[in-house]
Amino acid sequence: MSKIAVFPGSFDPITKGHENIINRAVPLFDKIIIAIGENQDKRSYFEITDRVKWIETVFANEPKIEVQTYSGLTVEFCKRVQADYILRGLRTSADFEFERSIGQTNKKLLPTIETVFLLTTPEFTPINSSIVRDVHHHGGDVKQFIPDAIHNFF
Ligand code: ADP
Repeated sequence: MSKIAVFPGSFDPITKGHENIINRAVPLFDKIIIAIGENQDKRSYFEITDRVKWIETVFANEPKIEVQTYSGLTVEFCKRVQADYILRGLRTSADFEFERSIGQTNKKLLPTIETVFLLTTPEFTPINSSIVRDVHHHGGDVKQFIPDAIHNFF
């Protein structure tokens, strides 16, 4: 049986923190589907087409990685793509509290699902998409926070 993981998030935009978690998860799974959740009530900062393109560019040479978009429940998406694992990154204790309730709820909704957490590499702890958006919005240079492969888009 192949091990399929879904890495859900908004990736608005993908950061070096996400890239690091994904690269470290590659040896653990046969396939990782990076799933960009679309929320009708919450407008994203960057266009969905750009977010998909950037992730595809970063992982262009990694055949185990696929990018998809979805709306609705993450566990329903996992069922559709036959994923048994949800991958998430943990930066801080605040992340832990948040992830714990989502993970335990997902397990209630789909008892076969396992959420797998990887701890962030220390230098990426302060990086988060909302701060990157803020810096970008105010005209700051965000290159140091985003994967090298997509610097030319910023
Ligand atoms: P959300 O849309 O739920 O806020 P994001 O799209 O920002 O989530 O991130 C998706 C996942 O990536 C989450 O598990 C989050 O903890 C993880 N993540 C985000 N930034 C980092 C980072 N700098 N280091 C490690 N994990 C991260």
